[in-house]
Amino acid sequence: MIQSKKQNIDYFPKWKPQMGTLGMLSNISEKVRYKALRNSSSAFIKRMDVRSMIFSRDGYKCVICGSSDDLQIDHIHSVYSVIKGKFPIEKLNTIENLRTLCRHCNASKIP
Ligand SMILES: [Zn+2]
Repeated sequence: MIQSKKQNIDYFPKWKPQMGTLGMLSNISEKVRYKALRNSSSAFIKRMDVRSMIFSRDGYKCVICGSSDDLQIDHIHSVYSVIKGKFPIEKLNTIENLRTLCRHCNASKIP
C-alpha cells in the first residue's frame, strides 16, 4: 500500500520553545532571554523541512529582490520584538512569520 504524504502548509511543523524558555521570560535579564530564545528559534528554522516549506512557498527566491542566491529564513517579526513584548512568542516560528530573504537583503534590513 502506498501512503501519500501531503506536502502542504497544514503540515508546517510546530515549534516548541526549549524547556524553560517561556518560564524564563519574566525574571532574567533581557540579554539572556534574547540569546535563549534566539538559539531555540534558529535551531527550528535551520530544520530542512522548515526551510524547504518556506523556500518552496516563496518560490526559492528572496521576497524583496527576487534573487535566488544565498537564501536564508527570516523572521518578519523578530526575536527581539518578542523579547520587547511587541509580538507573541507563540507566533514567532509560524509559517506566517517566516519568509525567504537572500543574505544581502537580510543583512541590510533595518533592525
Ligand atoms: Zn534579496
